[in-house]
Amino acid sequence: MAKVVILGAGIAGHVAAAHLKRKLGKEHEVLVVSPNSNYQWVPSNIWVGIGKMKKEDVVFPLQPLYKRKGIGYKQAKVVAFYPEGSSQISKAHVSVEYVAGDKQGQQELIDYDYLINATGPKLAFDLTPGLSPGENDTYSVCTYGHATEAWHALDTLMNKVKSTGQKAKILIGTGHGKSTCQGAAFEYILNVEKVISDAGLRDKFEITWISNEFELGDFGMDGLLVKYGGKNITSKEMVESVFEHRGIKWITKAGVNKIEKGIAHYENLDGKQKEEHYDFAMLIPAFSGHGFKSYDENGEENTEKLFKGFMIVDADYTPKPYEQWTVQDWPETYQNPSYNNIFAPGIAFAPPHPISKPRKSANGTDISPSPPRTGMPSGITAKLVADNIIDQIKNKDGKLHHKGSLGNMGAACIASAGYGAFTGSGVSITTYPIVPDFKKYPDSHGRKLGKTFGDIGLAGHWLKLALHYAFLYKAKMKPFWWIIPE
Ligand SMILES: Cc1cc2nc3c(=O)[nH]c(=O)nc-3n(C[C@H](O)[C@H](O)[C@H](O)COP(=O)(O)OP(=O)(O)OC[C@H]3O[C@@H](n4cnc5c(N)ncnc54)[C@H](O)[C@@H]3O)c2cc1C
Repeated sequence: MAKVVILGAGIAGHVAAAHLKRKLGKEHEVLVVSPNSNYQWVPSNIWVGIGKMKKEDVVFPLQPLYKRKGIGYKQAKVVAFYPEGSSQISKAHVSVEYVAGDKQGQQELIDYDYLINATGPKLAFDLTPGLSPGENDTYSVCTYGHATEAWHALDTLMNKVKSTGQKAKILIGTGHGKSTCQGAAFEYILNVEKVISDAGLRDKFEITWISNEFELGDFGMDGLLVKYGGKNITSKEMVESVFEHRGIKWITKAGVNKIEKGIAHYENLDGKQKEEHYDFAMLIPAFSGHGFKSYDENGEENTEKLFKGFMIVDADYTPKPYEQWTVQDWPETYQNPSYNNIFAPGIAFAPPHPISKPRKSANGTDISPSPPRTGMPSGITAKLVADNIIDQIKNKDGKLHHKGSLGNMGAACIASAGYGAFTGSGVSITTYPIVPDFKKYPDSHGRKLGKTFGDIGLAGHWLKLALHYAFLYKAKMKPFWWIIPE
């Protein structure tokens, strides 16, 4: 019997656990360790943040589902890695700490034959002094809890504006020079603008986008050339037209570096320190690794074998200038090169470098997006890791047959632009490949044009809503869930 331990039950961890259990059956053990007792469909947090969905609409408890499906579950967080075993247990193991229940605070060692690290990112609010959900009038939509708080604050502000007639300022975007996830902030600003318009308050609010992107529409993917309405346009033109149409101002090339109540301090690429005032801000923090440590069999720290911030996998991490980056730098199996029974799909793996051109300010501050790893590639990489482990357990040929790099994988992103059955809207962008391949597609900014397209309209809203229900159906492992693709 083989034992597969999965750290994290987000999109990547949960997808891996579900496929592993379905294909391995009762013969083998699948155990999930995750501190949050709920599964959350993160993309719909945007709608929690505008009061159109409640927490209950985007989460469900993991324990009962895992019990029914025969998947083990511990509500705990991993704290250290022992990939060679230790003086306590000779087999490879991790140490975990329970975060709830009778065992809260207790540590335990869990051994494994295969380990999947799907712990995603640490939301590194601490890298921007003063940025913290609920403090200094800044909010986040990165978790359902943050999104619920954001909606309460926005609703309170809207009521205040309604009753006093005073004007208010909203600031949405990235809260650090190296933040990623611009797409989520983009969705949120459009939804906030629509909620405010629907409340008849649009003329009372100034709404501003602030971001570390060099230009609008970069999205941490170096921008796109998209087929839109029969024409080829850049994502910059697409986003500019959406913002102009909605009366949203924008600040780009901005590295937010400090927050005080109602003031976002930032440096721009010229090296100038500036500030932007707001009454309500939603700023995406930097994402970092969790700071896990690893030890060899003698108890000596060997973290550098497993982590460089995020987990080291089969990428080419040789430092190179932007001009020499290629799609071949990106990993294909998400296997750690030092320990071949450890894998890291989803956001947990260390990318070889950003996707957007890296830029520094005149003062040497990094102000450009980190690479995004959205839900679709997180699910796809988790499934291929699960399939490789299943092959290894069943066929034992030691080969990894399932491969997929962000350089040969597409992503479909439906960004909600407003909630409503008849008045809603969505910006759908399909990108292929996620990491541009300038050799294969030199004339279309590294992407295949027929497979990279954009659209804006009511259909996008319905599609996003359909995905919400489809992916929650799949995550709940309802009949034939595996037919729904990642
Ligand atoms: C607001 C928002 C909207 C988004 N919208 C979209 C969208 O529309 N489309 C799209 O494709 N992508 C979207 N994304 C991105 C998408 O949510 C991520 O790509 C995806 O969640 C990454 O999955 P993951 O499993 O790698 O990480 P996560 O979802 O972050 O999961 C990490 C898991 O690890 C657990 N964990 C953390 N620490 C530990 C520890 N020490 N030990 C064990 N477990 C731990 C966490 O509790 C969690 O269960 C959005 C992101 C945000 C924030």
